[in-house]
Amino acid sequence: KTVSVEKTILETVSSKDGEQIPFLALCKVFEKIEATTKRLEITALIRDFLTQVMSIGQKQLAHTVMLCMAKIAPDHEGLELGIGESILIKSIASATGRQVARVKQDQHELGDLGTVVMRGKSNQRTMFKPKPLTVSKVFTTFKEIAMTSGSSSIQKKSGLITGLLASCSDIEAKYLIRSLEGRLRIGLAESTVQTALAHASLIYETGSEDDLQGEDFQQASENLKQVLSEFPIYDRVIESIYEHGISDVANHCMLTPTLPVKPMLAKIEKAAGDILRRFEGRPFTCEYKYDGERSQIHYVREADGSEQCVIFSRNAENNTGKYPDIARAVKEFAKKDVMSFILDCEAVAWDLETGKIRSFQTLSSRKKKVEDESEIKIGVCCFVFDLLYLNGEPLIRHPLRKRRDLLRENFVPVANKFQFAISKDLIEVEDIQEFLEQSVVDNCEGLMIKTLDGDMSSYEPSKRSMNWLKLKKDYVDGLGDSLDLVVIGAYYGKGKRVGAYGAYLLACYDPDREEYQTICKIGTGFSDADLESHKTQLDQNKIEQPKPYFAVADKTKPDIWFEPTQVWEVKAADLSLSPIYQAAFGEIDANKGVSLRFPRFIRVRDDKSPEMATTSSQVAEMYESQKINH
Ligand code: ATP
Repeated sequence: KTVSVEKTILETVSSKDGEQIPFLALCKVFEKIEATTKRLEITALIRDFLTQVMSIGQKQLAHTVMLCMAKIAPDHEGLELGIGESILIKSIASATGRQVARVKQDQHELGDLGTVVMRGKSNQRTMFKPKPLTVSKVFTTFKEIAMTSGSSSIQKKSGLITGLLASCSDIEAKYLIRSLEGRLRIGLAESTVQTALAHASLIYETGSEDDLQGEDFQQASENLKQVLSEFPIYDRVIESIYEHGISDVANHCMLTPTLPVKPMLAKIEKAAGDILRRFEGRPFTCEYKYDGERSQIHYVREADGSEQCVIFSRNAENNTGKYPDIARAVKEFAKKDVMSFILDCEAVAWDLETGKIRSFQTLSSRKKKVEDESEIKIGVCCFVFDLLYLNGEPLIRHPLRKRRDLLRENFVPVANKFQFAISKDLIEVEDIQEFLEQSVVDNCEGLMIKTLDGDMSSYEPSKRSMNWLKLKKDYVDGLGDSLDLVVIGAYYGKGKRVGAYGAYLLACYDPDREEYQTICKIGTGFSDADLESHKTQLDQNKIEQPKPYFAVADKTKPDIWFEPTQVWEVKAADLSLSPIYQAAFGEIDANKGVSLRFPRFIRVRDDKSPEMATTSSQVAEMYESQKINH
């Protein structure tokens, strides 16, 4: 057993909607979480709070859980907070009765906009004590803010934010503002909230934690994480927990076409020879690793003939608007009697004339939203490598061999639109090596090597699994993997680059500390066209101050700061220790971070959000593995 919060923290307030949770109670938990870095303590704090909320009601629990993650809807609905800085500053000015310039000045001094409101409010005299905020009021107002669109949306949003700020106390203001910015930055990761919710549900169900063992908690947490990676809708899962109990929720919230599954990912393998050792005699298949965009295609046809097709990106974003041609052709790919399915595939740019794969860069020039198919300039072909659901039945727990057989039995390739991923079930190292060479000749990145039989070949949503290995030509040649890094700043150009930026400041992401840590300056690999388009795009996200969640040393301060929005794929000669750069600082050397030597821009990764960038622990791993290889 770990720490427990005092039970009095949650004194509910009554309102016409029944018992309500004061937002202040939740903020007090946030404050305690922020004051510690111990993961067990954080989990216990949030678990104890959620256990108390469970007895109040399902809706309150769902709203609390969402606010713990600063979310207002499942990711695939595309409804996010992340309100722009200028709207927040304007709202703070009107809620605290100060000039915008004064708020900006405080921001400059204090860094964090939440702290700016706290200062503003403590100097403010109010005539009436406002009604306390409740968790549900905050959640529903956040949702309203995010859904506001149209001509006077800025005014409306700002009005709603000012209303919330006017009703809140000091610490509430701090977490309100951070939530509106899109992240709480208290070190509360989504996976910790999931663990806490599982534990709280188990305690609620059992009535006491005295009869529960460590493994009961672990099992509950694993179950819930699995459920949420297959059925990512918190309020529906919570409803099911109340109805069926945490141990049975997996039987009620299953893989469903039109809801995105968190994709399975692969581990790096450096040499064809190591694969045999890694799989210890288990049969495996080698597939081409196509270089395009991960696409999860969902299709359902109802008995009345109505049909629906949704295409999700690797990031669970709805990409159907980008691929209307694929959504239309998928019916031809499926045999007539197939009623529903989920396919996992890679969409690549395709040359109709030569029947060959085109580069990833070509694919990125396809428009994000196509109004009419006649606008499509870049043809796309989907290479399908997995079948996760077929005719009402989830297949992810079946071995890959069975899923592959079902794929081949129920679908027929469509010229220039749908193909099965090219694969060979090989045994000899020389054959794998040869197939790898061939994949590169055929414009692929290398191979994906996957176990075929038994439990260890099931589809593992959201896992970077040892049962999927990626073997790229570059690793074999000793060039190492690329990194996906976030652009957080820029330096003015000199000489030829006057007018454009001369170099950019890049960062990796640390999900535990929720911060972006600088890793290198980059000025190489850009074409003139790149330089121009980067400037135009990034300039839309300029910010006046670095975010409090940027870890940057003074010596690398850029001329311009950017909101973290763009992810760039970058290659480097190698990784080295640095006293200035902050990536994985202290992990390898107490006083040093890791930086990249001779970084080179490869491409923009539109399919990754900043939080999906290479993490600081991956950077540390890459640094360590390079020491072994040299
Ligand atoms: P990378 O930069 O190498 O694409 P990543 O982090 O996006 O890395 P990985 O797990 O490293 O993802 O590699 C798997 C990716 O490769 C998948 O997300 C998918 O987009 C792509 N891919 C291409 N061909 C295949 C295939 N045959 N099987 C599985 N994934 C494939």
